[in-house]
Amino acid sequence: MPEAKSTTRYRPETRLVHGGTLRSQFGETSEALFLTQGYVYDSAEQCEARFKGEEPGFIYSRYSNPTIEMFERRMIQLEGAEAARSTATGMAAVATAILAPLRAGDHVVASKALFGSCLYVVQDLLPRYGIETTLVDGLDLDQWQRALRPNTKSFFLESPTNPTLDVLDIPAIAEIAHSGGARLIVDNVFATPIWQSPLSLGADVVVYSATKHIDGQGRCLGGIILASEAFVAEHLHNFMRHTGPSMSPFNAWVLLKGLETLAVRVRAQTETAGKVADALAKHPKISRLIYPGRSDHPQAELVKRQMRAGSTLVGFEVKGGKQAAFRCLNALQISRISNNLGDAKSLVTHPPTTTHQRLTPEARAELGISEGFIRFSAGLEHADDLIEDFAQALEKA
Ligand SMILES: *Cc1c(COP(=O)(O)O)cnc(C)c1O
Repeated sequence: MPEAKSTTRYRPETRLVHGGTLRSQFGETSEALFLTQGYVYDSAEQCEARFKGEEPGFIYSRYSNPTIEMFERRMIQLEGAEAARSTATGMAAVATAILAPLRAGDHVVASKALFGSCLYVVQDLLPRYGIETTLVDGLDLDQWQRALRPNTKSFFLESPTNPTLDVLDIPAIAEIAHSGGARLIVDNVFATPIWQSPLSLGADVVVYSATKHIDGQGRCLGGIILASEAFVAEHLHNFMRHTGPSMSPFNAWVLLKGLETLAVRVRAQTETAGKVADALAKHPKISRLIYPGRSDHPQAELVKRQMRAGSTLVGFEVKGGKQAAFRCLNALQISRISNNLGDAKSLVTHPPTTTHQRLTPEARAELGISEGFIRFSAGLEHADDLIEDFAQALEKA
């Protein structure tokens, strides 16, 4: 199969359409879908050479597959990483990126504002295998500094955070991690690769749930870990080969199609999120609104420094707690109630009773997730239709 040309000299939009394409002997325009488990060899000698890693080529689709490789190469070129491994889901990417390099006796520091399943991995799972964890308020740089120990191997954070959209200082936190010989792993789902490039901000590893904006049309699950050649070779290569959290070639093909339109969708959804945020911010039934693209965001200055634009998500608090929030959600005609995000369809979530219901009310309050909190994920509908829909729904709140 001919080697793909690098697209890194081009702008992100061009990389998203052409990056990593491998054409077979048929010269197909669209990326081919290789639904194959295995590969055949010309000779026993060739098979031996592949297994010994002396000759490049595919061996088994748990290890790699041409369609999956195209997805990985496109993401590598978009993100400016050296290497990547894709996974069946975003959680497989997070769990693998965190677990694979660690052993009993190591220590991990993470921001406590995490996606629910990420919090489970850090808080419940790691300690069962003898890996200590410390959770910090990610906004407080002193807490990261004080949590650092001689055996700290990884820092983990997401920014903007879910669902309160706080923005953490990635360059400063990376510097603290590196000063103690630890690596920084960033879950970049909420920012998307379009608005934030953690590797260029000092992070060592970036992970995505490709399920969100990368597919962006609610079709399939997927994840990816991007890092240096050394991290992938040393920590991910054998771990993934032998534990098998691999992506399906079919999902890689769907995600390649998603990448072609990623920049266009994210830009449109961000513009819509900004318009909805501005309309809701002045609404009398809303007590608090958080949008990283507004000048009243608590870390507005940091947003300007480390992100290229706001976000496709908006967080807001309806006056009157859970009952009022539920009345608003139930009255919406366009935005659908769902715990997903980054979809072409606008989605609304009530984090206290869904993604964050596992936390105690005190822990939720500490994270700023009040009983009236709603997370809105902007889709591709017309902004005015969404705003009018919110206006009628809030009347019923
Ligand atoms: C959805 C999500 C994940 C998990 O991804 P899945 O593809 O659902 O496994 C991890 N981190 C963040 C921030 C997410 O939004």
